[in-house]
Amino acid sequence: MTQETGGFAALGIHPNVLTAITAVGYEEPSPIQAQAIPQILAGHDLIGQAQTGTGKTAAFALPILSLIDPAKREPQALILAPTRELALQVATAFESYSVNLPGVKVVAVYGGAPMGPQLKALRQGAQIVVATPGRLCDHLRRDEKLLNTVRHLVLDEADEMLKLGFMDDLDVIFEALPESRQSVLFSATLPASIRGIAEKHLREPKHIKIAAKTQTVAKIEQAYLMVHADQKAAAVLRLLEVEDFDALIAFVRTKQATLDLAAALEAKGYKAAALNGDIAQNQRERVIEFLKDGRLDIVVATDVAARGIDVPRITHVFNVDMPYDPESYVHRIGRTGRAGREGRALLLATPRERRMLQVIERVTGQKVTEVKLPDSKQVLDSRIRRLTKALQPLLATAEASHGELLDRLTTELGCEPRALAAALLVKATNGQALNLAEIEREQPLVPNSGPQRERRDREGGDHERRERRAPQPLAEGRVRCRTALGARDGIAAKNLLGAILNEGGLARDAIGRIQIRETFSLVELPEEGLDRLLGKLKDTRVAGKSLKLRRYRED
Ligand code: ADP
Ligand code: MG
Repeated sequence: MTQETGGFAALGIHPNVLTAITAVGYEEPSPIQAQAIPQILAGHDLIGQAQTGTGKTAAFALPILSLIDPAKREPQALILAPTRELALQVATAFESYSVNLPGVKVVAVYGGAPMGPQLKALRQGAQIVVATPGRLCDHLRRDEKLLNTVRHLVLDEADEMLKLGFMDDLDVIFEALPESRQSVLFSATLPASIRGIAEKHLREPKHIKIAAKTQTVAKIEQAYLMVHADQKAAAVLRLLEVEDFDALIAFVRTKQATLDLAAALEAKGYKAAALNGDIAQNQRERVIEFLKDGRLDIVVATDVAARGIDVPRITHVFNVDMPYDPESYVHRIGRTGRAGREGRALLLATPRERRMLQVIERVTGQKVTEVKLPDSKQVLDSRIRRLTKALQPLLATAEASHGELLDRLTTELGCEPRALAAALLVKATNGQALNLAEIEREQPLVPNSGPQRERRDREGGDHERRERRAPQPLAEGRVRCRTALGARDGIAAKNLLGAILNEGGLARDAIGRIQIRETFSLVELPEEGLDRLLGKLKDTRVAGKSLKLRRYRED
């Protein structure tokens, strides 16, 4: 036993798992780990409640790896996660904690990838199965005995799972699991729906709750900037001039906004990319890989697409659009300050969002300080600071290697070294503005939100009216589907809803807005498991006509 893993060793974890933790570099168990690990090892059912970033994955992965039997080549533990990203992240964590457990195999089962290889890995004796509920149900339909040998079940991020409409899938999965099993549920929040699941499917569970005063925010410096919606992109560009970031993730609300902002950043020379639900899975994984290895520095993402991103070099989170609730704010800023590092979170708030700001302060128990938009002088100082920093290391050797060339060039050009150095600076900085007058021309000052504009906003000026006319953004994780049946076919919203509920087997709250138009209708449905749902509805008829629901793409 080493000094470093002392805290973990006392919990009763398998020695080969302990050595793996040392290699990963964990020193002490986090509070949720210290409390949950002994309970899970003792075989109890458990409800663990703790915020994002508190180390819930290891809290269940370490004891489960200690409990399984590597000699038995069959599924022994099932971990359910709400999204592909999270499933992959959990599977990767299991892999890293099991490097010293020969014979232990982990398989990730999620939508958007072919089923064949997943099934093969399952049949080849993976003991740990990490799955999204939708795809796992697809597998169960082909092989209902798939989960017969599972002895440990984990519902990770249970609240997110229900938000994404997985209730029915969960019922199917519970049905397919042996009665005698250990069930563990982890969640950041415990709404009534989760407590209902726990009552029905857990046996005398132990409760562990880590107080909402999160460790996550402790190391994250939070600030906000008041800005008008139409000036957000300009404000982001200006902030980036003065913020000293390594990698950064910017959150926006819509898919289109990810594309727009990423394009604006790329145009300014940043290594930036968009991440949203429309982007294919393998491409998303590549974006995250690039962010990890430095081929990208900025990712502009929606909440769903960014869930579970764990990239240690992220130093900054920009909340370009306000999150929908304080929980998702905490989720978002938890993308920085990973593994105990320091991070900075900056929120762009419009005057009407002041109230949400107060709620966030209350929930995180921390002050969010106001910052002003950097002015031209600050931009200039920052550019010069960067240039100085870039030149500094060259001074030691440049004269030896390039001094003679300098002499020759001054002679050939017939100029003073100062004139030549200035010319070289122009070239080296690619024509970047490096004096006040030029910077002011290049970036006309974004006006700070004065009282006049604020009043206009409250009274519903142009700006606000324009916002109200814009199409309503889709909730995260939902997509719009279209049918050619509309009002002229005698369709009403309740017929459509009834058909989808009955034939599709969805929970009522999984279905979003329904819009009936003259010649067609739109309905918002969960993205996860969509293909399967549309398959189920293939032959559905409404008002005597074939429904033929299809995914609808606005662009
Ligand atoms: P949660 O699921 O609660 O949001 P994660 O399990 O994803 O949190 O862990 C968040 C981060 O903290 C990960 O980068 C993980 O590697 C790291 N971590 C977890 N436990 C420890 C620990 N005991 N010591 C140091 N880092 C840890
Ligand atoms: Mg987690």
